[in-house]
Amino acid sequence: MRFRHIGFGSRQLTPDGVPLVKAPLGFPQAEVERFLARHETWLHAARRRQAAQNALEAALTEPRVAALKARAKAEIPPRVAYFAERMGVQPKSVRITSAKTRFGSCSGENGLCFSWRLMLYPPEAVDYVVVHELAHILEKNHAPAFYRLLPSYCRRTARLPGARTAVERNPSKRRTPQ
Ligand SMILES: [Zn+2]
Repeated sequence: MRFRHIGFGSRQLTPDGVPLVKAPLGFPQAEVERFLARHETWLHAARRRQAAQNALEAALTEPRVAALKARAKAEIPPRVAYFAERMGVQPKSVRITSAKTRFGSCSGENGLCFSWRLMLYPPEAVDYVVVHELAHILEKNHAPAFYRLLPSYCRRTARLPGARTAVERNPSKRRTPQ
């Protein structure tokens, strides 16, 4: 089987920032290079994101991680309670995890998990993930009906604002949304 084009989802970076393109065996190297040239903007952006992510990870010393975990345990459950009441939903449980890329999840039994890494992002991002997971109590998928459940300010945020490159903000800037 031979593909004329390499799919959009087949590009990624290795941990060292080397572009990795998945292509069928025997796929011409020149085609791969053309593909990469066409996706140069993506490549630069992906490398910048990765460098920022690596710097973030390197700065996560053991005491800092402990502090972030403690903050997540103290700050996320009240945010969940705040929005759960407004949305009229009740999660079965709220757990703090160490997930690296999955900021939040909602199980089939409506148990919510949030990564302490969310504490590295602005409070708006934390609230966005909280509201997103709470909405999964009512709709388990990402169909249009799911997005209609989200308050308008969350609907506007298609993804975490600056999630990948965000730096830790001063917690004193935290404010209660209306
Ligand atoms: Zn979701």
